[in-house]
Amino acid sequence: MSKGAKKQRERIGAGEDVIDFDSFEPDYEHACDTCGETPTVTAVKDGEVIYSPGLCGPCCWGMAECLDPATW
Ligand SMILES: [Zn+2]
Repeated sequence: MSKGAKKQRERIGAGEDVIDFDSFEPDYEHACDTCGETPTVTAVKDGEVIYSPGLCGPCCWGMAECLDPATW
């Protein structure tokens, strides 16, 4: 895991909405809207998905290493 990945991750949902969630969870059932990779990123709070951009890690954060959910 790089420092860069952490920084990017903190900026998810940047803008006026601050998303409060427990963790990112990989979704292997839905392929990325942009590149077709799995898993896609979801944010979970209290066991429920509260945020699912429909994008895989690299498309969400712009770094190839984010394809691995372990980096989220
Ligand atoms: Zn993608």
